[in-house]
Amino acid sequence: MNKTAMISGITGQDGGYLAKFLLEKNYKVYGLYRRGATDTFGKLKEHGILEKIELLDFELLEFSNICRLIRHYQPDEFYNLAAQSFVATSWAEPIYTVQADGMGVVYILEAIREFSPKTKFYQASTSEMFGKVQEIPQTETTPFYPRSPYGVAKLMAHWTCVNYRESFGVFACSGILFNHESPMRGKEFVTRKITTYFADLVTNKTDMPLELGNLNIKRDWGFAGDYVEMMWKMLQYDSPDTYVLATGETHSIRDFIEEVGHICGYEIEWHGKEECETGVDKKTGKTIIKTNKKFYRPAEVDILIGNPEKARKVLGWRQTVSYKELCRMMIEADIDRAKKN
Ligand code: NDP
Ligand code: GDP
Repeated sequence: MNKTAMISGITGQDGGYLAKFLLEKNYKVYGLYRRGATDTFGKLKEHGILEKIELLDFELLEFSNICRLIRHYQPDEFYNLAAQSFVATSWAEPIYTVQADGMGVVYILEAIREFSPKTKFYQASTSEMFGKVQEIPQTETTPFYPRSPYGVAKLMAHWTCVNYRESFGVFACSGILFNHESPMRGKEFVTRKITTYFADLVTNKTDMPLELGNLNIKRDWGFAGDYVEMMWKMLQYDSPDTYVLATGETHSIRDFIEEVGHICGYEIEWHGKEECETGVDKKTGKTIIKTNKKFYRPAEVDILIGNPEKARKVLGWRQTVSYKELCRMMIEADIDRAKKN
């Protein structure tokens, strides 16, 4: 019999990569999605897997819906990737974010405990829980200090996961994943915002500068496709645990812009400082980057850099796409799309 997996957040970046990976392993995949005003299956179509997934209605805030799904299907594995995942929005919608990203996880774990205790559970935890970092690099034992409603909600979910593991023996794993990107990344996230902009610039679809927030922030960026395999590996291991997944490298937003700009043939010269900074194309003297206070956050996570040693030893974690390859993969995909549209 094929193993069964439920993936919440199937329409998101990681949902598509994970579903593709599990389908290749002959899983029966149930994709949980919420009905919206627009078609959100674009990523699954691009992966070419939409028809292979059984789609089911799902809403993180709807306990009755979650109970029914888990009681009826009793999946072997449940990957909870659904979340209000954009940090900036979590200040605009803190109550919803805490309910969805925090309470939503309690609902799922309660349903598993009650109706399907054998279901193995993966929680999409985040390096945002380290926030104002207490140690460099961050590991599974680094104290948490979240800096946004998103980080706070995810921390609640993380501890709930640990607690259901310890209290009720639920096979609940928490993957503390550092930023991971891909051509399927949401366009509101900074990497994709930058690559879609440069793609428009080189295909003459825009002549306006790109407005961004703080360019000095540093992130540990990897390729999403590498991370989903480890979600699965966590659930195949003998016992449930918590793991950091990261590359162990960190780069600033400015560095990412320069790298993508370089691939597109731009050498950027920086003028001014912080909220009044511009990035100018050396060849033409044209301003292509501009900072705008609007994109600064009320509290920042200045630097993230993870140490994935435990995942390396226990799960065999390895990065197959380097930082520079990731930049190239993302910009090339966006240029292709820009040319097609
Ligand atoms: P995305 O933003 O691409 O996807 C989020 C998914 O959650 C979407 O499918 C969205 O559906 C769904 N969703 C949002 N709210 C609800 C809700 N109330 N009920 C049901 N579904 C909902 O995120 P990623 O794929 O990038 O990330 C996957 C998970 O990993 C998220 O939980 C994220 O917080 C976490 N994470 C991500 C990291 C990253 O760098 N990508 C790093 C660490 C953790 P819809 O399409 O309808 O909006
Ligand atoms: P996050 O790490 O989950 O918050 O992922 P993001 O890609 O949204 O943001 C990464 C970092 O880029 C954050 O520290 C942001 O403050 C910074 N940043 C700077 N300018 C922008 C911008 O215009 N948009 C976004 N999304 N982030 C920006």
